[in-house]
Amino acid sequence: MIVRLFFNNRLEAGQIICLDEKQSHYLGNVLRLRAGDVFYVFDGQTGEYEAQITEFAKHGATAVIGSKTKEMSLSPDIWLLFAPLKKDKTDMVIQKATELGVRKIIPVRTAFTNAEKVRIERFTAQAVEAAEQCRRLDVPVIEDVQLLPELLKNWDVSRTLLFLDEKGRGRKIIDALSGQNKAAVLIGPEGGFRSDEAQMLEELPFVKSVSLGQRILRAETAAVAALACWQAVNGDW
Ligand code: SAM
Repeated sequence: MIVRLFFNNRLEAGQIICLDEKQSHYLGNVLRLRAGDVFYVFDGQTGEYEAQITEFAKHGATAVIGSKTKEMSLSPDIWLLFAPLKKDKTDMVIQKATELGVRKIIPVRTAFTNAEKVRIERFTAQAVEAAEQCRRLDVPVIEDVQLLPELLKNWDVSRTLLFLDEKGRGRKIIDALSGQNKAAVLIGPEGGFRSDEAQMLEELPFVKSVSLGQRILRAETAAVAALACWQAVNGDW
């Protein structure tokens, strides 16, 4: 098993790093690694390196960074915009979207969104864990929750917004994806989009309405399916 940890600071060969309490516990108590054992670290800026544990002290473990094992590369330019769901489902969306290589995740509050609290710190922790596990070199940026109308008002029109319309009015997703290498996928909440929201979206020039067929998928399934389609056509698969 390959052990990888993310450090949110620029790393370089020869540097001594201090692991935080959670990381030290994971290496020392869960994986039972010892001084001298090797694991991998990445920083989302310069790439991935080998690291060797130097000691486990009371305040935490330290390690020394060895040679670079992977040059930095960013994930493809796809974003996920989704209406937050219940806790475990949201965790799942963050985890799967990270594995599927999204570069940014934006929680969006729509008319029928009923998740009360949006915990960005929790989302970030989920994304870090998934990035460590799937061996990507960057961690998706998680933005603060935004209201749908605000988000649309400030949208960069050079990025296509793929509106996943459960009412089946959009094109087959596979017919809409060609050449969309800078895009975002928008998934609604369990209650779907309100009709005025759908209408507003359809009228915007940077929006493409797309369908995943006649079956109504759960939001988390729709997110995974749409991202997989995009990856197969425009991404790095
Ligand atoms: N309550 C809605 C209904 O019964 O029509 C279903 C909403 S669905 C659970 C949540 C989100 O997943 C939708 O807003 C949409 O973005 C996406 N979705 C689900 N099935 C879809 C499909 N067949 N085509 C496109 N998007 C879909």
